[in-house]
Amino acid sequence: MNWNRRIQALAGTVALAMATGFPVAAQVPPTGPGIPGNPVSPSQIGDTSAIAREAQGWLADLIKINTSNPPGNEQIAAMYLLGVLAKDGIKAEILDMTPGRSAVVARLRSAAVANPSKALLLVAHLDTVPVEKGRWTVDPFGAVIIDGYLYGRGAIDDKGMLAANLAAFISLKRSMARLNRDVIFLATDDEEGGGDASIRMLIAKHWDKFAAGFAINEGGNVFLKNGKVQYAGVQADEKVACNIAVIARGTSGHASQPTKDNPVTHLAAALAKIGNYSAPVHFTSIVRRYFEGLAALEDDDIGKWMRSMETTDRGEHAQRVISDASPLWNAMLRDTVAPTVLTAGVANNVIPAEARANLNVRLLPGDSINGVVNDLNKLVNDPQVKLEVQPNAGLASPSSSLESEFYGVISKVVSQEFGGAPALPFQSTWLTDSAQLRLHQVQALGLVPFPLTQDDLKRMHGDDERIPLASFAKGVDVLSKIVVEFAVAH
Ligand SMILES: [Zn+2]
Repeated sequence: MNWNRRIQALAGTVALAMATGFPVAAQVPPTGPGIPGNPVSPSQIGDTSAIAREAQGWLADLIKINTSNPPGNEQIAAMYLLGVLAKDGIKAEILDMTPGRSAVVARLRSAAVANPSKALLLVAHLDTVPVEKGRWTVDPFGAVIIDGYLYGRGAIDDKGMLAANLAAFISLKRSMARLNRDVIFLATDDEEGGGDASIRMLIAKHWDKFAAGFAINEGGNVFLKNGKVQYAGVQADEKVACNIAVIARGTSGHASQPTKDNPVTHLAAALAKIGNYSAPVHFTSIVRRYFEGLAALEDDDIGKWMRSMETTDRGEHAQRVISDASPLWNAMLRDTVAPTVLTAGVANNVIPAEARANLNVRLLPGDSINGVVNDLNKLVNDPQVKLEVQPNAGLASPSSSLESEFYGVISKVVSQEFGGAPALPFQSTWLTDSAQLRLHQVQALGLVPFPLTQDDLKRMHGDDERIPLASFAKGVDVLSKIVVEFAVAH
Protein backbone atom coordinates (compact mmCIF):
# COMPACT_ATOMS: atom_id res chain seq x y z
CA MET A 1 0.00 0.00 0.00
CA ASN A 2 1.35 3.38 -0.95
CA TRP A 3 0.57 5.82 1.84
CA ASN A 4 2.11 8.80 0.05
CA ARG A 5 -0.20 8.23 -2.82
CA ARG A 6 -3.18 7.87 -0.50
CA ILE A 7 -2.41 11.11 1.27
CA GLN A 8 -1.98 12.89 -2.04
CA ALA A 9 -5.25 11.45 -3.23
CA LEU A 10 -7.05 12.53 -0.08
CA ALA A 11 -5.70 16.05 -0.50
CA GLY A 12 -6.90 15.91 -4.08
CA THR A 13 -10.37 14.86 -2.95
CA VAL A 14 -10.63 17.72 -0.49
CA ALA A 15 -9.49 20.19 -3.13
CA LEU A 16 -12.02 18.77 -5.56
CA ALA A 17 -14.74 18.97 -2.94
CA MET A 18 -13.97 22.62 -2.39
CA ALA A 19 -13.89 23.28 -6.10
CA THR A 20 -17.17 21.61 -6.89
CA GLY A 21 -19.01 22.32 -3.67
CA PHE A 22 -19.83 18.76 -2.72
CA PRO A 23 -18.82 17.29 0.60
CA VAL A 24 -16.15 14.61 0.83
CA ALA A 25 -18.48 12.16 2.57
CA ALA A 26 -22.22 11.62 2.71
CA GLN A 27 -24.06 14.71 3.78
CA VAL A 28 -27.02 13.12 5.51
CA PRO A 29 -26.53 11.66 9.00
CA PRO A 30 -27.24 7.94 9.34
CA THR A 31 -30.94 7.38 9.96
CA GLY A 32 -31.71 3.81 8.97
CA PRO A 33 -35.01 1.99 8.85
CA GLY A 34 -33.79 -0.90 11.02
CA ILE A 35 -34.12 -1.06 14.77
CA PRO A 36 -30.72 -1.70 16.39
CA GLY A 37 -30.46 -5.21 17.74
CA ASN A 38 -33.45 -6.59 15.86
CA PRO A 39 -32.92 -8.64 12.74
CA VAL A 40 -34.71 -7.32 9.64
CA SER A 41 -36.79 -9.50 7.41
CA PRO A 42 -37.36 -8.66 3.75
CA SER A 43 -40.65 -7.09 4.77
CA GLN A 44 -39.05 -5.21 7.67
CA ILE A 45 -36.64 -3.40 5.38
CA GLY A 46 -39.88 -1.66 4.44
CA ASP A 47 -39.51 1.89 3.27
CA THR A 48 -36.25 2.46 1.42
CA SER A 49 -37.15 5.95 0.24
CA ALA A 50 -34.86 7.66 2.80
CA ILE A 51 -31.78 5.65 1.84
CA ALA A 52 -32.68 6.10 -1.85
CA ARG A 53 -32.61 9.89 -1.36
CA GLU A 54 -29.19 9.60 0.29
CA ALA A 55 -28.03 7.34 -2.52
CA GLN A 56 -29.18 9.93 -5.08
CA GLY A 57 -26.77 12.35 -3.39
CA TRP A 58 -23.94 9.80 -3.61
CA LEU A 59 -24.73 9.20 -7.28
CA ALA A 60 -24.64 12.94 -8.01
CA ASP A 61 -21.29 13.26 -6.18
CA LEU A 62 -19.85 10.30 -8.09
CA ILE A 63 -20.94 11.77 -11.44
CA LYS A 64 -19.11 14.99 -10.51
CA ILE A 65 -15.87 13.03 -10.05
CA ASN A 66 -14.76 12.54 -13.64
CA THR A 67 -13.57 8.94 -14.04
CA SER A 68 -13.61 8.80 -17.85
CA ASN A 69 -11.43 5.91 -18.93
CA PRO A 70 -8.82 6.52 -20.22
CA PRO A 71 -7.27 7.57 -17.92
CA GLY A 72 -9.85 6.59 -15.27
CA ASN A 73 -8.30 8.26 -12.21
CA GLU A 74 -10.64 6.16 -10.08
CA GLN A 75 -8.60 6.74 -6.92
CA ILE A 76 -10.46 9.98 -6.13
CA ALA A 77 -13.84 8.23 -6.41
CA ALA A 78 -12.43 5.39 -4.29
CA MET A 79 -11.48 7.85 -1.53
CA TYR A 80 -14.97 9.34 -1.71
CA LEU A 81 -16.53 5.90 -1.14
CA LEU A 82 -14.17 5.32 1.78
CA GLY A 83 -15.57 8.50 3.37
CA VAL A 84 -19.22 7.53 2.79
CA LEU A 85 -18.67 4.08 4.31
CA ALA A 86 -16.68 5.49 7.26
CA LYS A 87 -19.65 7.68 8.25
CA ASP A 88 -21.53 4.47 8.99
CA GLY A 89 -18.63 2.94 10.84
CA ILE A 90 -17.66 0.64 7.96
CA LYS A 91 -13.93 0.26 7.49
CA ALA A 92 -13.28 -0.05 3.78
CA GLU A 93 -9.97 -0.74 2.15
CA ILE A 94 -8.47 0.92 -0.90
CA LEU A 95 -6.76 -1.52 -3.23
CA ASP A 96 -4.17 0.38 -5.25
CA MET A 97 -3.73 -0.99 -8.75
CA THR A 98 -1.64 1.36 -10.91
CA PRO A 99 -0.78 5.03 -10.21
CA GLY A 100 -4.03 6.95 -9.70
CA ARG A 101 -6.20 3.86 -10.05
CA SER A 102 -7.77 1.97 -7.17
CA ALA A 103 -10.59 -0.35 -6.22
CA VAL A 104 -12.50 -0.37 -2.92
CA VAL A 105 -13.56 -3.33 -0.81
CA ALA A 106 -15.61 -3.53 2.40
CA ARG A 107 -17.23 -6.45 4.23
CA LEU A 108 -20.13 -7.09 6.58
CA ARG A 109 -19.35 -10.28 8.47
CA SER A 110 -21.74 -13.09 9.27
CA ALA A 111 -19.32 -15.01 11.47
CA ALA A 112 -15.83 -14.74 12.92
CA VAL A 113 -14.49 -17.12 10.27
CA ALA A 114 -15.35 -16.24 6.70
CA ASN A 115 -16.82 -18.83 4.34
CA PRO A 116 -15.98 -17.47 0.90
CA SER A 117 -18.08 -20.04 -0.96
CA LYS A 118 -21.25 -18.61 0.64
CA ALA A 119 -20.35 -14.91 0.50
CA LEU A 120 -22.30 -12.43 -1.65
CA LEU A 121 -20.39 -9.82 -3.63
CA LEU A 122 -22.03 -6.54 -4.65
CA VAL A 123 -19.91 -5.32 -7.54
CA ALA A 124 -19.95 -2.19 -9.70
CA HIS A 125 -17.27 -0.23 -11.52
CA LEU A 126 -15.96 3.25 -10.78
CA ASP A 127 -14.83 4.22 -14.28
CA THR A 128 -16.95 5.37 -17.22
CA VAL A 129 -16.49 5.65 -20.95
CA PRO A 130 -15.43 9.13 -22.17
CA VAL A 131 -17.83 11.80 -23.44
CA GLU A 132 -18.09 13.78 -26.65
CA LYS A 133 -18.80 16.95 -24.70
CA GLY A 134 -20.02 18.99 -27.65
CA ARG A 135 -22.82 16.52 -28.32
CA TRP A 136 -24.30 16.73 -24.81
CA THR A 137 -27.06 19.24 -24.06
CA VAL A 138 -25.93 19.48 -20.39
CA ASP A 139 -22.60 19.27 -18.53
CA PRO A 140 -21.84 15.51 -18.47
CA PHE A 141 -20.16 15.94 -15.06
CA GLY A 142 -22.70 18.38 -13.62
CA ALA A 143 -25.26 15.87 -12.27
CA VAL A 144 -28.00 18.15 -13.57
CA ILE A 145 -31.63 17.26 -12.79
CA ILE A 146 -34.25 18.07 -15.47
CA ASP A 147 -37.86 16.84 -15.46
CA GLY A 148 -37.21 14.02 -13.02
CA TYR A 149 -34.05 12.76 -14.75
CA LEU A 150 -30.54 12.92 -13.34
CA TYR A 151 -28.12 13.53 -16.21
CA GLY A 152 -24.45 12.62 -16.28
CA ARG A 153 -21.86 10.21 -17.57
CA GLY A 154 -22.21 7.04 -15.55
CA ALA A 155 -25.77 7.84 -14.35
CA ILE A 156 -26.67 4.29 -15.40
CA ASP A 157 -23.36 2.67 -16.34
CA ASP A 158 -22.24 2.08 -13.70
CA LYS A 159 -22.34 4.78 -11.03
CA GLY A 160 -26.10 4.26 -10.71
CA MET A 161 -25.54 0.64 -9.76
CA LEU A 162 -22.56 1.61 -7.59
CA ALA A 163 -24.75 4.00 -5.57
CA ALA A 164 -27.51 1.37 -5.32
CA ASN A 165 -25.00 -1.25 -4.11
CA LEU A 166 -23.74 1.25 -1.55
CA ALA A 167 -27.31 1.91 -0.36
CA ALA A 168 -28.12 -1.81 -0.02
CA PHE A 169 -24.84 -2.40 1.83
CA ILE A 170 -25.17 0.55 4.22
CA SER A 171 -28.83 -0.12 5.00
CA LEU A 172 -27.89 -3.71 5.84
CA LYS A 173 -25.24 -2.41 8.25
CA ARG A 174 -27.68 0.03 9.85
CA SER A 175 -30.31 -2.68 10.27
CA MET A 176 -27.87 -4.74 12.40
CA ALA A 177 -29.49 -7.80 10.86
CA ARG A 178 -28.01 -11.23 11.54
CA LEU A 179 -26.44 -12.36 8.29
CA ASN A 180 -26.28 -15.93 7.05
CA ARG A 181 -23.38 -15.10 4.74
CA ASP A 182 -20.78 -12.33 4.43
CA VAL A 183 -21.79 -9.45 2.18
CA ILE A 184 -18.91 -7.78 0.37
CA PHE A 185 -19.00 -4.40 -1.37
CA LEU A 186 -16.57 -4.12 -4.28
CA ALA A 187 -16.01 -1.09 -6.51
CA THR A 188 -13.73 -2.04 -9.40
CA ASP A 189 -11.66 0.16 -11.69
CA ASP A 190 -10.73 -0.03 -15.38
CA GLU A 191 -13.81 -2.06 -16.32
CA GLU A 192 -14.21 -0.11 -19.57
CA GLY A 193 -10.54 -0.53 -20.47
CA GLY A 194 -9.84 -4.05 -19.25
CA GLY A 195 -6.14 -3.24 -18.79
CA ASP A 196 -3.62 -3.62 -15.98
CA ALA A 197 -5.91 -2.04 -13.37
CA SER A 198 -8.95 -4.17 -14.23
CA ILE A 199 -10.67 -7.04 -12.44
CA ARG A 200 -8.34 -9.57 -14.01
CA MET A 201 -5.42 -8.02 -12.12
CA LEU A 202 -7.54 -7.28 -9.06
CA ILE A 203 -8.30 -11.00 -8.78
CA ALA A 204 -4.65 -11.87 -9.35
CA LYS A 205 -3.46 -9.51 -6.59
CA HIS A 206 -6.28 -9.39 -4.03
CA TRP A 207 -8.64 -12.35 -4.53
CA ASP A 208 -8.60 -13.28 -0.82
CA LYS A 209 -10.12 -9.87 0.03
CA PHE A 210 -13.32 -10.44 -1.96
CA ALA A 211 -13.53 -14.16 -2.75
CA ALA A 212 -17.22 -15.07 -2.94
CA GLY A 213 -19.53 -17.77 -4.20
CA PHE A 214 -22.18 -15.34 -5.50
CA ALA A 215 -22.15 -11.90 -7.08
CA ILE A 216 -24.58 -9.35 -8.40
CA ASN A 217 -23.20 -7.01 -11.03
CA GLU A 218 -24.30 -5.00 -14.08
CA GLY A 219 -25.01 -6.90 -17.31
CA GLY A 220 -28.78 -7.38 -17.23
CA ASN A 221 -31.55 -4.78 -17.25
CA VAL A 222 -35.15 -4.18 -16.26
CA PHE A 223 -36.92 -3.45 -19.54
CA LEU A 224 -39.68 -0.85 -19.39
CA LYS A 225 -42.14 -0.92 -22.31
CA ASN A 226 -45.36 1.10 -22.68
CA GLY A 227 -45.01 2.36 -19.10
CA LYS A 228 -44.76 -1.14 -17.59
CA VAL A 229 -41.90 -3.45 -16.71
CA GLN A 230 -41.99 -6.10 -19.42
CA TYR A 231 -39.30 -8.33 -17.90
CA ALA A 232 -35.99 -8.28 -16.06
CA GLY A 233 -33.15 -9.81 -18.05
CA VAL A 234 -30.83 -11.47 -15.53
CA GLN A 235 -27.44 -11.85 -17.15
CA ALA A 236 -26.04 -15.33 -16.59
CA ASP A 237 -23.56 -15.42 -19.44
CA GLU A 238 -21.92 -13.10 -21.93
CA LYS A 239 -20.43 -13.16 -25.40
CA VAL A 240 -16.70 -13.15 -25.95
CA ALA A 241 -14.95 -10.27 -27.76
CA CYS A 242 -12.01 -10.46 -30.11
CA ASN A 243 -10.65 -8.51 -33.06
CA ILE A 244 -9.56 -9.46 -36.56
CA ALA A 245 -7.33 -7.24 -38.70
CA VAL A 246 -8.19 -7.18 -42.42
CA ILE A 247 -5.03 -6.28 -44.31
CA ALA A 248 -4.98 -5.53 -48.04
CA ARG A 249 -1.55 -5.17 -49.67
CA GLY A 250 -0.61 -3.89 -53.14
CA THR A 251 1.90 -1.75 -54.99
CA SER A 252 2.32 1.86 -53.94
CA GLY A 253 2.57 4.46 -56.65
CA HIS A 254 1.50 7.75 -58.22
CA ALA A 255 -2.24 8.31 -57.95
CA SER A 256 -2.23 9.80 -61.48
CA GLN A 257 -1.79 6.25 -62.85
CA PRO A 258 -4.32 3.99 -61.07
CA THR A 259 -3.52 0.27 -60.76
CA LYS A 260 -5.70 -2.81 -60.44
CA ASP A 261 -4.02 -3.91 -57.18
CA ASN A 262 -4.78 -0.70 -55.23
CA PRO A 263 -5.17 -2.00 -51.63
CA VAL A 264 -7.82 0.65 -50.84
CA THR A 265 -10.11 -0.79 -53.52
CA HIS A 266 -9.43 -4.36 -52.45
CA LEU A 267 -10.09 -3.56 -48.79
CA ALA A 268 -13.34 -1.76 -49.66
CA ALA A 269 -14.54 -4.74 -51.72
CA ALA A 270 -13.67 -7.14 -48.90
CA LEU A 271 -15.51 -5.04 -46.32
CA ALA A 272 -18.59 -4.77 -48.50
CA LYS A 273 -18.77 -8.57 -48.52
CA ILE A 274 -18.03 -8.85 -44.78
CA GLY A 275 -20.72 -6.26 -44.07
CA ASN A 276 -23.33 -8.62 -45.51
CA TYR A 277 -22.07 -11.66 -43.57
CA SER A 278 -24.47 -13.31 -41.19
CA ALA A 279 -23.15 -16.20 -39.09
CA PRO A 280 -25.34 -19.28 -38.62
CA VAL A 281 -27.80 -19.25 -35.71
CA HIS A 282 -26.74 -21.25 -32.68
CA PHE A 283 -28.96 -21.56 -29.61
CA THR A 284 -27.30 -21.62 -26.22
CA SER A 285 -29.50 -22.95 -23.41
CA ILE A 286 -29.80 -19.46 -21.91
CA VAL A 287 -30.88 -17.89 -25.20
CA ARG A 288 -33.39 -20.67 -25.77
CA ARG A 289 -34.96 -20.03 -22.35
CA TYR A 290 -34.89 -16.26 -22.94
CA PHE A 291 -36.91 -16.50 -26.16
CA GLU A 292 -39.29 -19.08 -24.67
CA GLY A 293 -40.10 -16.63 -21.88
CA LEU A 294 -40.19 -13.55 -24.09
CA ALA A 295 -42.52 -15.11 -26.66
CA ALA A 296 -45.33 -14.97 -24.09
CA LEU A 297 -44.73 -11.24 -23.48
CA GLU A 298 -44.45 -9.97 -27.05
CA ASP A 299 -47.35 -9.34 -29.41
CA ASP A 300 -48.90 -12.38 -31.07
CA ASP A 301 -47.03 -12.03 -34.34
CA ILE A 302 -43.51 -11.70 -32.86
CA GLY A 303 -44.35 -14.31 -30.22
CA LYS A 304 -45.34 -16.76 -32.96
CA TRP A 305 -42.04 -16.27 -34.83
CA MET A 306 -40.04 -16.61 -31.60
CA ARG A 307 -41.67 -19.97 -30.96
CA SER A 308 -40.99 -21.11 -34.54
CA MET A 309 -37.25 -20.46 -34.62
CA GLU A 310 -36.31 -24.11 -34.08
CA THR A 311 -38.99 -25.71 -36.26
CA THR A 312 -37.82 -27.54 -39.38
CA ASP A 313 -40.29 -26.00 -41.83
CA ARG A 314 -40.41 -22.33 -40.73
CA GLY A 315 -37.24 -22.10 -38.58
CA GLU A 316 -35.03 -20.25 -41.03
CA HIS A 317 -37.67 -17.69 -41.91
CA ALA A 318 -38.53 -17.18 -38.24
CA GLN A 319 -34.86 -16.61 -37.35
CA ARG A 320 -34.68 -13.96 -40.10
CA VAL A 321 -37.82 -12.18 -38.87
CA ILE A 322 -36.56 -12.08 -35.27
CA SER A 323 -33.02 -11.02 -36.27
CA ASP A 324 -34.38 -8.21 -38.44
CA ALA A 325 -36.70 -7.03 -35.67
CA SER A 326 -33.90 -6.19 -33.20
CA PRO A 327 -30.10 -5.84 -33.35
CA LEU A 328 -30.00 -7.21 -29.78
CA TRP A 329 -31.93 -10.37 -30.70
CA ASN A 330 -29.82 -10.81 -33.83
CA ALA A 331 -26.64 -10.61 -31.76
CA MET A 332 -27.98 -13.05 -29.14
CA LEU A 333 -28.55 -15.68 -31.82
CA ARG A 334 -25.21 -15.72 -33.61
CA ASP A 335 -21.57 -14.65 -33.73
CA THR A 336 -21.35 -11.10 -35.07
CA VAL A 337 -18.72 -9.15 -36.99
CA ALA A 338 -18.63 -5.34 -37.04
CA PRO A 339 -16.02 -3.34 -39.01
CA THR A 340 -14.97 -0.52 -36.66
CA VAL A 341 -11.71 1.14 -37.75
CA LEU A 342 -10.25 1.93 -41.19
CA THR A 343 -6.64 2.93 -41.79
CA ALA A 344 -5.16 3.70 -45.21
CA GLY A 345 -3.30 6.32 -47.16
CA VAL A 346 -0.54 8.85 -46.54
CA ALA A 347 -1.40 11.61 -49.03
CA ASN A 348 -4.15 12.49 -51.50
CA ASN A 349 -1.91 11.78 -54.50
CA VAL A 350 -0.28 8.54 -53.34
CA ILE A 351 -1.63 4.99 -53.76
CA PRO A 352 -0.63 3.32 -50.48
CA ALA A 353 1.01 -0.10 -50.21
CA GLU A 354 -1.37 -1.21 -47.47
CA ALA A 355 -4.91 -0.62 -46.22
CA ARG A 356 -6.28 -2.04 -42.98
CA ALA A 357 -9.55 -2.43 -41.17
CA ASN A 358 -10.46 -3.77 -37.75
CA LEU A 359 -13.33 -6.18 -37.29
CA ASN A 360 -14.79 -6.41 -33.80
CA VAL A 361 -16.09 -9.94 -33.38
CA ARG A 362 -18.46 -11.13 -30.64
CA LEU A 363 -18.59 -14.89 -30.29
CA LEU A 364 -21.30 -16.90 -28.63
CA PRO A 365 -19.93 -18.72 -25.58
CA GLY A 366 -18.35 -21.93 -26.84
CA ASP A 367 -17.85 -20.78 -30.45
CA SER A 368 -14.36 -20.57 -31.89
CA ILE A 369 -12.90 -17.63 -33.81
CA ASN A 370 -11.57 -20.08 -36.41
CA GLY A 371 -15.08 -20.75 -37.67
CA VAL A 372 -15.63 -17.05 -38.34
CA VAL A 373 -12.21 -16.63 -39.98
CA ASN A 374 -12.85 -19.59 -42.31
CA ASP A 375 -16.24 -18.22 -43.34
CA LEU A 376 -14.84 -14.73 -43.97
CA ASN A 377 -11.85 -16.03 -45.95
CA LYS A 378 -14.20 -17.95 -48.26
CA LEU A 379 -16.41 -14.90 -48.63
CA VAL A 380 -13.60 -12.40 -49.35
CA ASN A 381 -11.73 -14.81 -51.65
CA ASP A 382 -8.99 -12.33 -52.60
CA PRO A 383 -5.28 -13.32 -52.45
CA GLN A 384 -4.38 -9.67 -51.78
CA VAL A 385 -6.43 -9.62 -48.56
CA LYS A 386 -5.36 -11.40 -45.37
CA LEU A 387 -7.23 -11.83 -42.07
CA GLU A 388 -5.21 -11.84 -38.85
CA VAL A 389 -6.72 -12.67 -35.45
CA GLN A 390 -5.44 -10.11 -32.95
CA PRO A 391 -3.94 -11.00 -29.58
CA ASN A 392 -5.74 -10.44 -26.24
CA ALA A 393 -8.96 -12.14 -27.27
CA GLY A 394 -11.43 -12.58 -24.43
CA LEU A 395 -11.75 -15.84 -22.55
CA ALA A 396 -14.99 -17.75 -22.59
CA SER A 397 -16.31 -18.26 -19.07
CA PRO A 398 -18.78 -20.87 -17.83
CA SER A 399 -22.34 -19.57 -17.51
CA SER A 400 -23.95 -19.02 -14.12
CA SER A 401 -26.55 -21.54 -12.99
CA LEU A 402 -30.25 -20.80 -13.45
CA GLU A 403 -31.00 -23.35 -10.74
CA SER A 404 -29.06 -21.67 -7.91
CA GLU A 405 -30.78 -20.31 -4.81
CA PHE A 406 -29.52 -16.85 -5.78
CA TYR A 407 -31.17 -16.93 -9.21
CA GLY A 408 -34.36 -18.08 -7.46
CA VAL A 409 -34.22 -15.14 -5.02
CA ILE A 410 -33.73 -12.60 -7.81
CA SER A 411 -36.64 -14.09 -9.81
CA LYS A 412 -38.91 -14.00 -6.77
CA VAL A 413 -38.11 -10.41 -5.77
CA VAL A 414 -38.35 -9.19 -9.39
CA SER A 415 -41.77 -10.69 -9.86
CA GLN A 416 -43.01 -9.37 -6.48
CA GLU A 417 -41.70 -5.86 -7.06
CA PHE A 418 -42.49 -5.40 -10.74
CA GLY A 419 -46.14 -6.42 -10.78
CA GLY A 420 -45.60 -10.02 -11.79
CA ALA A 421 -43.10 -9.30 -14.59
CA PRO A 422 -40.83 -12.32 -14.98
CA ALA A 423 -37.07 -12.59 -14.71
CA LEU A 424 -35.67 -14.08 -17.92
CA PRO A 425 -32.17 -15.49 -18.21
CA PHE A 426 -30.08 -13.16 -20.33
CA GLN A 427 -26.91 -13.60 -22.36
CA SER A 428 -25.45 -10.15 -22.83
CA THR A 429 -23.82 -9.22 -26.11
CA TRP A 430 -21.52 -6.90 -24.13
CA LEU A 431 -18.73 -7.69 -21.68
CA THR A 432 -18.75 -7.24 -17.93
CA ASP A 433 -16.47 -8.02 -14.99
CA SER A 434 -18.64 -11.10 -14.39
CA ALA A 435 -16.75 -13.19 -16.97
CA GLN A 436 -13.62 -13.01 -14.82
CA LEU A 437 -15.64 -13.79 -11.69
CA ARG A 438 -17.27 -16.81 -13.37
CA LEU A 439 -13.82 -18.08 -14.30
CA HIS A 440 -13.20 -18.13 -10.52
CA GLN A 441 -16.28 -20.22 -9.71
CA VAL A 442 -18.48 -17.26 -8.73
CA GLN A 443 -22.19 -17.56 -9.52
CA ALA A 444 -22.29 -14.02 -10.93
CA LEU A 445 -25.65 -12.66 -12.07
CA GLY A 446 -26.16 -9.33 -13.82
CA LEU A 447 -29.04 -7.01 -13.05
CA VAL A 448 -28.96 -3.22 -13.19
CA PRO A 449 -32.14 -2.91 -11.11
CA PHE A 450 -33.59 0.31 -12.57
CA PRO A 451 -36.63 0.06 -14.88
CA LEU A 452 -35.47 1.73 -18.10
CA THR A 453 -36.93 2.34 -21.53
CA GLN A 454 -35.12 1.47 -24.73
CA ASP A 455 -34.44 5.21 -25.20
CA ASP A 456 -32.73 5.52 -21.81
CA LEU A 457 -30.74 2.31 -22.32
CA LYS A 458 -29.40 3.58 -25.67
CA ARG A 459 -27.82 6.58 -23.93
CA MET A 460 -25.37 4.39 -22.03
CA HIS A 461 -21.99 4.95 -23.71
CA GLY A 462 -23.82 7.63 -25.77
CA ASP A 463 -24.80 11.28 -25.32
CA ASP A 464 -27.03 12.69 -22.57
CA GLU A 465 -26.88 9.56 -20.40
CA ARG A 466 -29.54 9.92 -17.72
CA ILE A 467 -31.52 8.01 -15.14
CA PRO A 468 -35.15 8.67 -14.16
CA LEU A 469 -35.03 9.42 -10.41
CA ALA A 470 -38.14 7.34 -9.77
CA SER A 471 -36.46 4.35 -11.46
CA PHE A 472 -33.34 4.92 -9.42
CA ALA A 473 -35.32 4.84 -6.16
CA LYS A 474 -37.20 1.72 -7.29
CA GLY A 475 -33.90 0.04 -8.18
CA VAL A 476 -32.43 0.82 -4.75
CA ASP A 477 -35.52 -0.76 -3.19
CA VAL A 478 -35.39 -3.89 -5.36
CA LEU A 479 -31.66 -4.42 -4.89
CA SER A 480 -31.96 -3.98 -1.11
CA LYS A 481 -34.72 -6.57 -1.01
CA ILE A 482 -32.68 -9.05 -3.07
CA VAL A 483 -29.72 -8.65 -0.70
CA VAL A 484 -31.87 -8.99 2.44
CA GLU A 485 -33.74 -12.00 1.08
CA PHE A 486 -30.50 -13.78 0.19
CA ALA A 487 -28.15 -12.76 3.01
CA VAL A 488 -30.22 -12.12 6.13
CA ALA A 489 -30.93 -15.05 8.43
CA HIS A 490 -34.65 -15.61 8.77
ZN1 LIG B 1 -20.62 -0.88 -17.17
